[in-house]
Amino acid sequence: SVVVAGSFNVDHVWRCDALPAPGATIAGRYSTGPGGKGFNQAVAARRAGAEASFVCALGEDAGGTLARQLAAADGIVLVAEASNEPTGTAGIYVDGRGRNSIVIGAGANASLSTEFMAANTALIGNAKVLLAQLESPVETIEAALGLAREAGVLTMLNAAPANAPSTISLLKLADVLTPNETEFAALLGRHVGERLEADDVAALDGASLHALCRKLSGNTVVVTLGAVGVFVSHDEDKLRGDSQPYYRIAAESVQVVDTTGAGDAFNGALAASLAYAPEASFIKHVRFANQYAARSTEQEGAAVSMPRMTPADV
Ligand code: ADP
Repeated sequence: SVVVAGSFNVDHVWRCDALPAPGATIAGRYSTGPGGKGFNQAVAARRAGAEASFVCALGEDAGGTLARQLAAADGIVLVAEASNEPTGTAGIYVDGRGRNSIVIGAGANASLSTEFMAANTALIGNAKVLLAQLESPVETIEAALGLAREAGVLTMLNAAPANAPSTISLLKLADVLTPNETEFAALLGRHVGERLEADDVAALDGASLHALCRKLSGNTVVVTLGAVGVFVSHDEDKLRGDSQPYYRIAAESVQVVDTTGAGDAFNGALAASLAYAPEASFIKHVRFANQYAARSTEQEGAAVSMPRMTPADV
């Protein structure tokens, strides 16, 4: 099984012609639905065939009720710490060209505690894979990764969002680190003093990318490169069944409608595949996650557009 530790948000989305300037009042087409990287990834892991548990913090409000209903509808085991704060929210403006501005109200997500993680030591210890992101307090994520490590559970850290206050100690606890280009550049800048533009990452040659990955982690690093695909870098002594320490996989060509949540789809699917066949070579898991994430872009939305497709189907 996969345990996801992370955030749940109620997303409020306004689609407008142009993003509002300071002082402006404009009209937009409104929609609302579930979000938060943790929840999105739990849904992806579940729909990719894994038994999935989602450890999060929720307010005692309509958002908390929504989380419980949606988790139940997807067959996700929800393990929620009750918070006095409101359930997490995100206000999202999207313009006619698909660009967005986002404000996150962390709310209850900011109160997910290390004590609550410790109370779920058995749940974490019985999983095959623990998957976390950085939309929850750093010390809580550190505790979750640490508990998994102690129990011999494979740890995955999606180092998102890029502006999160991550620490180098967190990176060491991840068997598999999965930044996108922006997060990769941010981690390099913050932790190893490497200045790199996110837009330049995909164009680097394999040896250079591999060397940069090695500076960040002694374990496996998977950099997602959007429409370009994925780059994988292993430690020479821990190839996870692969024959090469680094390689690229091209993105699948699909009719893209909305790439929101593609990274979440990738992470959830990678975790599900690793839990499904831990002994398979790593490249098989990455190929599956790459296919799953591509499929997720064919429909609008994040959690709601996660496809139902398992490693056994491909
Ligand atoms: P994020 O959503 O975090 O920005 P990426 O944009 O890197 O993450 O996308 C994650 C993964 O989703 C990619 O590595 C790829 O597998 C898949 N993906 C993203 N965009 C596309 C696309 N346009 N076509 C096909 N696959 C895509």
